[in-house]
Amino acid sequence: MSDVRNVIIIGSGPAGYTAAVYSARADLKPLVFEGSVTAGGALMNTTEVENFPGFPDGIMGPDLMDNLRKQAERFGAELVADDVVEVDLTVTPKVVKTATETHLAKAVILATGSGYRELGVPNEKRLSGRGVSWCATCDGFFFRGQDIVVVGGGDTAMEEATFLTRFANSVTVVHRRDELRASKIMQDRAFSNEKIRFVWDSEVVEVLGENKVSAVRLRNLKTGEESELAATGLFIAIGHDPRTELVKGQVELDDEGYIKVDSPYTRTNLDGVFAAGDVVDHIYRQAITAAGTGTSAALDAERWLAEHE
Ligand code: FAD
Repeated sequence: MSDVRNVIIIGSGPAGYTAAVYSARADLKPLVFEGSVTAGGALMNTTEVENFPGFPDGIMGPDLMDNLRKQAERFGAELVADDVVEVDLTVTPKVVKTATETHLAKAVILATGSGYRELGVPNEKRLSGRGVSWCATCDGFFFRGQDIVVVGGGDTAMEEATFLTRFANSVTVVHRRDELRASKIMQDRAFSNEKIRFVWDSEVVEVLGENKVSAVRLRNLKTGEESELAATGLFIAIGHDPRTELVKGQVELDDEGYIKVDSPYTRTNLDGVFAAGDVVDHIYRQAITAAGTGTSAALDAERWLAEHE
């Protein structure tokens, strides 16, 4: 059992590392659990990031995360590349466990992010950042004049498809059913857009391409017939899963499983527990917004600690 830390941060994406920079500079000596496999968060899976302020020529996702990591370390954050497997955030001090150790903290910042749902088809992972994307806001700009496939039938898929028509030559929405789940207004917007066409009752069964996407293989779910559709971009918009398994039953979650915070603050329903980044946010989901709320969480935790001295 360790000494009681001021603050433990769980998560190592832009939210976690930024919270670490701020709390380390406030001399709180934060302990950061980065995760054993995915240290650095979602941007470790991408190539160029062009919309993080301060990098006029863009920066590779892993380089950005490495910079943030070093910045946190420079001010004294203690970084541990391990997974938190259990917490008790309802007691004082709060308990945070890895497979081998138990740690105690006065305050905890949750920054565990959310996972983009994958199709689980061949070549999807290999071509991630090479034509396969989960974020039109992030990557749409790279697809000027190209033919794009969007998978999904909900509001996000329609929003992404409509947004992508700004850049794309054409956008084909592939959906498993013969009608959309999206709200009427989003449907109307997509149906009236000349650049968008729909392939109904179909799923993507394979992504094709050597070093970048060149086509997708489709299967019609009614006839079983397979076909190839040429495209250089594949945007997957079938949902996200916030990583809240760890805190379920302790921290209050919304209907979709995201952590509820007392916005614009980052405090949760539990005293001394704060949350930031994509584990809270199902609207913006950007590196800079995650970093922004990471900052807020560190400042909220710092003030909370000062009040509870
Ligand atoms: P994440 O980055 O998801 O980090 C959370 C991390 O916490 C996990 O990866 C893991 O390391 C750690 N963790 C989780 N659970 C535990 C646990 N139990 N114990 C220990 N550690 C744990 N945004 C942009 O602004 N610009 C872009 O160009 C851009 N491109 C993207 C490309 C791709 C392929 C993807 C997937 C996303 C992209 N995004 C982009 C979105 C951006 O990456 C996210 O909005 C941002 O990373 C969210 O940050 P976060 O800190 O909340 O969570």
